[in-house]
Amino acid sequence: MDPRLSVIKKRFENVKKIIAVSGGKGGIGKSLTASTLSLCLTRHSRRTGLLDLDFCGPSTHVILGLDGVYPEEERGIVPPEIHGIKYMSIVPFTGSHPSPLRGGEVSNAIIEILAVTRWGPLEYLIIDMPPGTGDTVLDVIRLIGKSEFLLVTTPSAVALAVMKRELIMLKELDVPVMGVLLNMKLKDKTAVAEEIAGLKVPFLGSIDFDYALEEALGNPEKLLKTNFARQLNQTVCSR
Ligand code: ADP
Ligand code: MG
Repeated sequence: MDPRLSVIKKRFENVKKIIAVSGGKGGIGKSLTASTLSLCLTRHSRRTGLLDLDFCGPSTHVILGLDGVYPEEERGIVPPEIHGIKYMSIVPFTGSHPSPLRGGEVSNAIIEILAVTRWGPLEYLIIDMPPGTGDTVLDVIRLIGKSEFLLVTTPSAVALAVMKRELIMLKELDVPVMGVLLNMKLKDKTAVAEEIAGLKVPFLGSIDFDYALEEALGNPEKLLKTNFARQLNQTVCSR
């Protein structure tokens, strides 16, 4: 047995709630949701960590403006605390170099990052998941038993179809699903909201397409003032 696996359980001993932000499709707002949710929670005085598990397309450091932050080595890796969030990602180790990992290598990197990171006591650990419903989803379920999933989708039939596949898989594996968040709503999407509600999973609410969002990227204070953050606060953070 891989000796790192026994260490992982210990690393999460004092983490109360783990939320994996997933949804299957790329470009639907998973990273934005994970980053902004972490910020919102810290502003509600919740001790929060953010783990970016999208090794091939890490984005949370861009959204939160975290370039140039490094974890400390001390009997493991201590994540730096920035804007009140304990933060861990592959970026401090790779910089802007690509990290084109294959299946087994992804699992190995996940095991390593989970085994070395000393989160300490946290109320929430938010995980930014990569697109896809394969390796990383299965590894998070396997390695971090107590995580629940927040599924993001857009109103597009293309995103909905992939989210539904992930939802079915999570249900089959008995993994708790916190609910579904409808992001990038452009017009009335009652029908989509009803469709999600029909999936017998909590519908967390919807977030409009926010035209002012791009200008706020990289600046947490600005990000928290966007309509996106305001709506995320109402739909997820204050629940
Ligand atoms: P994912 O992590 O699912 O691939 P991202 O969080 O990186 O998606 O979001 C993809 C792009 O869409 C980013 O440029 C992000 O700023 C933008 N975006 C996400 N949600 C919204 C929204 N509600 N309004 C406007 N732009 C959004
Ligand atoms: Mg992402």
